[in-house]
Amino acid sequence: MTYHIAVLSGDGIGPEIVAQAQRVLVAVGEKYSLEFELTPALVGGIAYDATGHPLPPETLELCKNSDAVLLGAVGGPKWDNVHPATLRPEVGALLPLRRELGLFANLRPATLFPALASVSSLRADIVGGGLDLLVVRELTGGIYFGKPKGRSEDGQTATDTCVYSRHEIERIAVVGFEAARKRGGNLCSVDKANVLETSRLWREVVVEVSARYPDVALSHMLVDNCAMQLVRNPAQFDVIVTENMFGDILSDEASMLTGSLGMLPSASLGSRETAGGRGTFGLYEPIHGSAPDIAGKGVANPLATILSCALLLRHSLGEEVAAVAIETAVSKVLTEGARTADIAGDGSAPISTTAMGDLVLAALS
Ligand code: NAD
Repeated sequence: MTYHIAVLSGDGIGPEIVAQAQRVLVAVGEKYSLEFELTPALVGGIAYDATGHPLPPETLELCKNSDAVLLGAVGGPKWDNVHPATLRPEVGALLPLRRELGLFANLRPATLFPALASVSSLRADIVGGGLDLLVVRELTGGIYFGKPKGRSEDGQTATDTCVYSRHEIERIAVVGFEAARKRGGNLCSVDKANVLETSRLWREVVVEVSARYPDVALSHMLVDNCAMQLVRNPAQFDVIVTENMFGDILSDEASMLTGSLGMLPSASLGSRETAGGRGTFGLYEPIHGSAPDIAGKGVANPLATILSCALLLRHSLGEEVAAVAIETAVSKVLTEGARTADIAGDGSAPISTTAMGDLVLAALS
């Protein structure tokens, strides 16, 4: 079977980090006899320059016909003042991609490799043993999208509306339970059920879904307590599932516990099954942006994008062994001391983007 993967490098450091991730995908494919068809396409500012739109129709079409999408990053100062603003890369490419591809579940692992404990914002006695938690965020509902929203006629009152349907909660709860089942078997559902009606429905539906997952231990936590627990004792969490706005905030908080933007992958999943029914269609990207300040210098950390490939293998292709092989290779190179500039806080001499890719490839073989 051939897996079809759309490769959208984008802008800034995008092409540099995606190049390394592609090398890793090819190598893992050779090692585990997986066949990939990697098809590049334009997205972001570079697509705007070439075609007048940051998400050309042929790019969207390619994504729709793929098993998964690997994305670098989009945007940069060159396109900050594009008119109309709806054609700016972040607005004109990322949001429509999520919408058109029906990506309702955002998975953000926050993994702190023990070798990098010194770059965490938390003390070593709290994170010294490493961190491995996953935030599953609902991505297309809640207060960011609920209607009505806007201003009163005199402009003195503003309204946003938080709406969740049973269906929206159920499908994200399933993603949370499935993820917990494949990891440590613990799911913490985060809400504000002491105040919000949407949260009370959320809790009700999550409890109903839990009946299908007797092997997963479910707990509930209020969002304010969760924000506090994440810095007090993050190791208590395995998988957190939560609604859109809470997830937006908590996943950023969780990711910074790991010290570097350059290390963190993400997955956004839809509902369509992929080739052979072994996984779910998704888009995979590092959580960082296009880093224009270091673009073209060959110093960007490619590990977030390489780890995004592991998520792609796991969630869209059902190739768990290959996914773990990438994660193990990354852990090995870090333990052996390899550092790009962003994670060289412990005084190590930084290596280049390509050199980091070389080391991961060597660790894979
Ligand atoms: P950024 O994440 O690009 O950069 C923030 C800081 O982190 C910079 O100092 C950068 O050099 C550093 N950094 C980021 N990734 C790194 C890596 N892999 N290795 C080493 N250092 C890294 O955020 P920003 O500067 O706020 O945004 C830059 C551009 O990216 C903007 O145009 C923004 O809109 C866009 N952006 C795109 C995405 C996306 O494509 N998903 C996400 C966020 C921001």
